[in-house]
Amino acid sequence: MAALAGLVLVSLLLASDSVVRGSAMDTLSQTVRSNLLAVDVQEDGSLQVGEEFRYYQNGVYMLIYSGEEALLAGQVPVSFTASETFENGVTRLVDSEQDDYYVLDLWYAKGWEDGVWVRGLMEAPEPDQTIQNLLSLAGVVIPAFMLLSALGGYWIAKRAFRPLEEITATAQAISEGADLSARIQRRRGSNEFTRLTDAFNQMFERLECSFEAEKRFTADASHELRTPVSVIKGACEYAEKFDETPEERAETIAMIHRQALRMSGLITQLLSMTRLDQGTEGVALEEVDLSGLVRSVCAEQAYPTHRLTLEVEEGLTVRGSAPLLTRLLQNLIDNGFKYGREEGQVWVSARREGEEIQLSVRDNGIGIPKEQQDKIWQRFYQVDPARSHDTGAGLGLSMVQKIAQAHGGYMTVDSVPNLGSQFTLHLPVSQA
Ligand code: ADP
Repeated sequence: MAALAGLVLVSLLLASDSVVRGSAMDTLSQTVRSNLLAVDVQEDGSLQVGEEFRYYQNGVYMLIYSGEEALLAGQVPVSFTASETFENGVTRLVDSEQDDYYVLDLWYAKGWEDGVWVRGLMEAPEPDQTIQNLLSLAGVVIPAFMLLSALGGYWIAKRAFRPLEEITATAQAISEGADLSARIQRRRGSNEFTRLTDAFNQMFERLECSFEAEKRFTADASHELRTPVSVIKGACEYAEKFDETPEERAETIAMIHRQALRMSGLITQLLSMTRLDQGTEGVALEEVDLSGLVRSVCAEQAYPTHRLTLEVEEGLTVRGSAPLLTRLLQNLIDNGFKYGREEGQVWVSARREGEEIQLSVRDNGIGIPKEQQDKIWQRFYQVDPARSHDTGAGLGLSMVQKIAQAHGGYMTVDSVPNLGSQFTLHLPVSQA
């Protein structure tokens, strides 16, 4: 601001200086030329000066000299002490001891040789009083102006950056773990700060969600692990006090073994879910022969073959991870038997349907009530915990869904209580 103000002032001074000079030289030139019209030289060489001739006009002194530069008419101002040689038609500034003068000479010619010099002298104007005033005023105004603009600038900047301070404070509060539910207040209007606020709030929202999910997951997992641990603890205490015969001990050991197996299964599932979540269980996609995979899973597992029917189209290949697809299929078939009726049937089918490859597992079991069908995909959700008490923890379907998503597909369920359920994996053919 200071530089700008200085620049304006200097250009103002320069401009006004050149305007003053310019107008002084104009006045001089006009006055000398108009007076020249009143000068004449007779045949006999005598000088004739008309009435219109003004010896002093508009600050210009008019002088007439002979060809030999002798003063014929007019009076040289006292402060013009320089002896300036004559130069026709050139206005110039001449340094004189006391004052500076603008000088313009014009040659009035009569015949070849005769003539007179008409000279105009004009005192060079002093810097204008207005400019002097302006300068002294600027000495006061500019510092005041700078002070004001500094204060104003500080105020404006502080106001403009207040939202940034809020954002920083909230982000700090969150990073110090004080309050994950804190949000930055949204300001009216739409500018960069509002967008920044929105972006931060969205980030906080996601942070809070994932933090809550982690918390819930840890709580659920420890809860699920506590059950088998307390069963084992109880069984050991009971055995120590009451088991006497080897048969009784064997029974307790078998129970402890079952619970240990359940825990180990649970831990394996939890680990692989976490890896899927974190994306560390590398879903190395490769060409998988889906038809072959379905057949081998059904053959290798000890399923009751008379209750399992396969309807598999030949030659279905997908890009996927064979271990993950195997786990998905095993989970679905296990559930088909687990939630089937006694001697119930399970059908496994794989086919191409338009733009999709569909892998379905259907049973004629207990089915799932409509209102629960959305929830079965959640971790640890069980429609009837009593029914899957020993073998599951409600993690299977959540894993199935994750595997489907990791393959760019999705899961659907179609189920009617007491009639049966059908779970289908849909994979886009582009993935196939
Ligand atoms: P779980 O370990 O309990 O089997 P899942 O995640 O595999 O956990 O399944 C979640 C819940 O969905 C089960 O508790 C069960 O109530 C229901 N469910 C899953 N598959 C079937 C099915 N084929 N028929 C009926 N209910 C099922």
